[in-house]
Amino acid sequence: EALALNEPETQTQISGGTSKGIWVLAETEADGTLSAVTKELLGKAAVLAEKLHQDVEALLIGSESDAAVSSLAAYGAQRIHLAGHSSLASFIEENYARAAVQVIRECRPDILLVGATPRGRGLSARIAALLQTGLTADCTELDIDAETGLLQQIRPAFGGNLMATIATPAHRPQMASVRPGVMKAREADPALKGECIRHDLSDFKCDGHIRLLDEVLETAGGDSLGNSRIVIGVGRGVKKKETVERICQWAKRLGAAVAGSRAAVEAGLIDAHLQVGQTGQTIAPDLYIAIGISGQIQHTAGIAGAKRIIAINPDKTAPIFNVADYGWAVPVEEALPQLMAVQV
Ligand code: FAD
Repeated sequence: EALALNEPETQTQISGGTSKGIWVLAETEADGTLSAVTKELLGKAAVLAEKLHQDVEALLIGSESDAAVSSLAAYGAQRIHLAGHSSLASFIEENYARAAVQVIRECRPDILLVGATPRGRGLSARIAALLQTGLTADCTELDIDAETGLLQQIRPAFGGNLMATIATPAHRPQMASVRPGVMKAREADPALKGECIRHDLSDFKCDGHIRLLDEVLETAGGDSLGNSRIVIGVGRGVKKKETVERICQWAKRLGAAVAGSRAAVEAGLIDAHLQVGQTGQTIAPDLYIAIGISGQIQHTAGIAGAKRIIAINPDKTAPIFNVADYGWAVPVEEALPQLMAVQV
């Protein structure tokens, strides 16, 4: 179902003009508010837009919530494209991708940024495939090449051992999915009012193969990792479920969230959705306390934005001490009772 957008002679032509606009695919939370990554993408889009002398625009699919629209404007979207239709009331990836493609074909943005969230990862891949354009997944930085004006899509490669800079000169839009927590959101300005554009999707055809039977909201409990100022990372060295439970009690007292390394997830100590690192979440808390974590690059890739790191690990040679601001070379069994005895 390739859409004829990328033939060389038409790819930059939009009804007499060229591809224009730095677009952000907006994502909302269950309560209709804007997700943190959308605010972060709008912050980065503003920086890119200034360099390219283009506008920041947002695409909101399914929802027409006034709160989301005014929030998009407050975070810097100059134009907000609304793609509403009865079959888009619930998130079905195939339908959202079709709706996005319909609007993108009409407006032809130069750049489309999507959050590399559980929803955004699949959705961005589908949109890119339908548009037959390139997609750089999981970017950790974006910039504009001063000579070519192309989007530089920067992401870790080869297990995080080098940073690759990728450009997609031949196709539009240039598409990147971006890890949550790595870009800076700008300050919201409620005085900013964006132009709202409602797209006519009356002829929209949803994917007949997919039927939504039920929606089950899974609550992780406590603060989400991305919003927590303090995160405690549990590693394989913690070894026992009972010790993890005690760490969770301590975390509750501190108002901290608990995350884990992949090895801790594989050992059944921590839920998979709480994994931090290259194939998990990226977090940027004020304080990260790594307990029983060796500090392999695939883990530390997810905590590079942490302001302070404390490591607790009896092995003084563990690489986590190379990135930690403070280290305590003792086993968790010795550290935890002392930490829990401290009044907070
Ligand atoms: P280990 O490396 O086994 O370290 C355990 C540490 O606990 C050791 O340093 C040890 O000294 C210490 N220890 C032992 N006893 C105690 C004690 N009593 N008290 C306290 N400390 C103790 N990993 C991630 O975390 N996130 C990712 O997203 C991720 N993605 C990956 C993607 C790829 C493609 C690959 C190849 C790997 C990925 N990994 C990821 C795995 C990563 O390479 C490491 O294997 C993993 O991070 C190790 O987890 P760990 O530090 O908990 O375990």
